[in-house]
Amino acid sequence: MFRKIIVPVDISVLEKGLDILNKAADLLDEGGQIVLLNVVEEVPSYLAIDMPVDVMDNAVHDAGDRLRELMHNAKVDAKIEIRTGPPAREILAAAKSHAADLIIIASHRPDFSNYLLGSTADRVVRHATCSVLVRR
Ligand code: ADP
Repeated sequence: MFRKIIVPVDISVLEKGLDILNKAADLLDEGGQIVLLNVVEEVPSYLAIDMPVDVMDNAVHDAGDRLRELMHNAKVDAKIEIRTGPPAREILAAAKSHAADLIIIASHRPDFSNYLLGSTADRVVRHATCSVLVRR
């Protein structure tokens, strides 16, 4: 059992998110905490120049809404966190700052079936200092 579990969710594949959030609830110690995390990737500056100034704020706001909805559907209590930057780096940073003892990550998008592990999941597995559960 684990006391602090990071559940990073890609909001474009919410059904995977539901699955790993439920898994986290199964593995959580009484009195432990789940951190439900989404990382919003930053828009490259050469694109950002043509975009409305609040595009990042909107994306962060939208990600928060999606995660709240997911938490509500799963009927699992979690702390919602939105970070910005490269997903793998921010997932690892979140695990460190929360002193997590487990990260639960989905393996890859169903339509990317020629890979066993997506690139974000791959980086997290290789660099995490805590245990990582890769859900297939
Ligand atoms: P794929 O390229 O097939 O989507 P990834 O390695 O990017 O594979 O994603 C696998 C898992 O990594 C996702 O299901 C999710 O758990 C996590 N993940 C990927 N991107 C993000 C993100 N931006 N924020 C939070 N978690 C993410």
